[in-house]
Amino acid sequence: MHFPTTCPACAHEVPVEFADSAVHDVICPACGARYVVFVRKHKFEVLFDLGTRALMDGYAREAVASFAAALERFFEFYVRSFALERAAGTEGDFTEALAALEGTWRHVASQSERQVGMLALAYLLREGRAPDFLTPGALGADFRNRVIHRGYLPRREEVEAYAARVFALIDRLLTELGGSTAHAELAQEQAFAAHLATLPEGVTAVFEEHPGMFRARRFGGPPGDKAAVPGKTAPPLNGAQAFARALAERGPGLDVFKGR
Ligand SMILES: [Zn+2]
Repeated sequence: MHFPTTCPACAHEVPVEFADSAVHDVICPACGARYVVFVRKHKFEVLFDLGTRALMDGYAREAVASFAAALERFFEFYVRSFALERAAGTEGDFTEALAALEGTWRHVASQSERQVGMLALAYLLREGRAPDFLTPGALGADFRNRVIHRGYLPRREEVEAYAARVFALIDRLLTELGGSTAHAELAQEQAFAAHLATLPEGVTAVFEEHPGMFRARRFGGPPGDKAAVPGKTAPPLNGAQAFARALAERGPGLDVFKGR
């Protein structure tokens, strides 16, 4: 997936391939200037947006893999937000808490089943109740496995329903996390700062925010994307409606990502 960047020296538009680290070292082909583009976006957001792009472009089967990966990475994001939020309430410093978290995640990083276990405990400790969403039905696990492991060719409506389910779940958990997501944001800012510190002089740092399906909910913003109309309370949207609305409002913004 490529996105356009603008050279800070000569304003030439340079397409850059989205990096796993969200850090992009660029040399402008027009003037030779070096710059680094930091994209403030989390892995689950990138993956969900990729899935949405694929769906919009008619690649329904490919979209399923991205949506499924987005959900797994969101579970990691939840655990990170929770663990760092907890640590913030103690004496220890953030860097140590982050190192302890990374050391712990190493034990579960290669097995998604273990990660679901981490999430279940994090949810219980944070919310004081069982994670009701961890049933195969609620996660759409059968559908996902049929598509990914058994080569099932899904219809677009089936993929839309699956996407809506994943979207609604992430949206709900983001709402429950509220301002706690700021702790995971801070971890990304620290990673950016560490890279920034290694740059030689004369390299310009550029920080970017990209459009995405979850943007409106980030940084602990209030739930709902539009200002409430006084005296009118809109009925809550179900998953399919919420996904359809987000797709209509934010899908066109994903056009900046060209190709996959
Ligand atoms: Zn340039």
